[in-house]
Amino acid sequence: MKDLYDIPSRKDTRRTPFRPRCKLCRTNKYIIPICYNLEITEELLAKEKKGELKIGGYSRSIDAPNWFCTKCETSFQR
Ligand SMILES: [Zn+2]
Repeated sequence: MKDLYDIPSRKDTRRTPFRPRCKLCRTNKYIIPICYNLEITEELLAKEKKGELKIGGYSRSIDAPNWFCTKCETSFQR
């Protein structure tokens, strides 16, 4: 008989946001998302200052990088 209650909850997996690894330092510790086409607000600027994200400005390119490594100062797409 299978234990039906032994299913990992999805809440836990959702709490950890996905971050790809940097090709240079090979970790995702310093990876922040690059946000495009957002209205620049005080809140957004505060987040950028804290290093939670990077403001990418306006871009229409589909192959614009969407991740940035703050350690290597390199951006890449994933
Ligand atoms: Zn890196």
